[in-house]
Amino acid sequence: MRKTVALIAHDRKKEEMLTFVLENKDSLVHCNLIATATTGRIIQEKAGLDVTTYLSGPLGGDQQIGAQIACQQVDAVIFLRDPLTAQPHEPDITALLRICDVHNIPVATNTATANLVLRCFTSED
Ligand code: PGA
Repeated sequence: MRKTVALIAHDRKKEEMLTFVLENKDSLVHCNLIATATTGRIIQEKAGLDVTTYLSGPLGGDQQIGAQIACQQVDAVIFLRDPLTAQPHEPDITALLRICDVHNIPVATNTATANLVLRCFTSED
């Protein structure tokens, strides 16, 4: 069954997210991708993948994705957050990580973990 993967990258992590997506395009093309606005637009434009986009993170996109997680609509979250810069929507970030833990949804906050999660999905198919 097609997995739904949420992709979110803070501004200083967007290039790393694009590199990750390009390197894993063969796996991600078989997933339903959802993303916050800017992250999703970059992936659509630069990797040519279909992405359902929500609002930008600071405008509520993290909360929209969190709601999808609470509704059991998301199989994994790849959330490349910037650990060195304070974000205006820090409470939303904490809430997103929390809701992943509440629902036992794998959440990768770096590409090393993201690669492991994707590899599991590929071997399940
Ligand atoms: P963005 O949102 O993809 O719209 O930049 C992510 C964030 O910064 O939380």
